[in-house]
Amino acid sequence: MELTRRVLRAGVLDPNKDFTLQETEVEIRWDPLTGHTARVLGVPRGLMPPNDEDLEAIAGKTAESCPFCGDRLEARTPRFPPDVVTEGRIHRGQAVLFPNLFAYSRFSAVSVYGPELHYLPLAQMTWELVSDNLATQAAFARAATASDPAAQWASINANHMLPSGSSLFHPHLQGSVDPVPTTMQRLLVDTPADRFRAYLEAEQDAGERYLGSTGRVHWLASFAPLAPGELRALMFDVASPVDLDDDLVQELGGGIATALNLYAELGFESFNLALYGAPPGSDGYPLNLRMACRSNLKAMYRADATYFERLHWEAAVDIAPEELASRAGERFCRPNASAP
Ligand SMILES: [Zn+2]
Repeated sequence: MELTRRVLRAGVLDPNKDFTLQETEVEIRWDPLTGHTARVLGVPRGLMPPNDEDLEAIAGKTAESCPFCGDRLEARTPRFPPDVVTEGRIHRGQAVLFPNLFAYSRFSAVSVYGPELHYLPLAQMTWELVSDNLATQAAFARAATASDPAAQWASINANHMLPSGSSLFHPHLQGSVDPVPTTMQRLLVDTPADRFRAYLEAEQDAGERYLGSTGRVHWLASFAPLAPGELRALMFDVASPVDLDDDLVQELGGGIATALNLYAELGFESFNLALYGAPPGSDGYPLNLRMACRSNLKAMYRADATYFERLHWEAAVDIAPEELASRAGERFCRPNASAP
């Protein structure tokens, strides 16, 4: 497989350089799976400044009325009906999963890393915290798909911190189980299974964006990202979050924690994540994940979603995927990378 790119050159007479001709490069890249295009800007533009906000202070203010904090979680979050989840909520380690009060899907779940973890900077994400939270979501996906055989499209997702779309400060994951795929699930499932393998092999050969394998999970810096700092994970022996066994939950959770620690090093505190499931048993479909950084929380911030991202479905990023991979180094090359 050839990874396709094309460089465009734009010339302007620059007022900051006596109106002499200055050229800028913009690289268009085609995603090898879905064909969507991305723009990688040739010169860093400072589009994603590092966090300089006192998040602990904001955490302190928002915790006072947070429905996910401490004992309030028990009293103020809903429970699933017993025909979906017998105990009403799902617990694993510190993590607790409950239904979203305002549904976005046939089955919508919210899972906190812990009722006491209202302030959880990305540098403090651990293998155990992420794995336990992921385990509640896998259990939820199994329960929801079992309770309604028509609803087999499961995904595990995150809006982390307010700029990513989260309405609450308290860190959490979100699960969705539906009788129909989202647009991206449909595009991914319509991708021939052998293209996923060919993409991985092309990146393993190229080397500059392949980050390594932790065993059953391969990690990549996205060739044509949908958003800044995008990482992808591919798992070839499972198709749905329903199929995540305990070992794979631990391995994937370790990889996600490693990625979040990397984001913290790069100065980011807000991210989105999606683990795109197909119906369990979908032939050849690899369960796959995307995660990407969002703008940091601050007054007068610049949103990272512009007309390009929202209306053309095409990211314009100034973090080159190769630079991201270089910063990641070898950390995704070992099993349970962030395990204690
Ligand atoms: Zn809270």
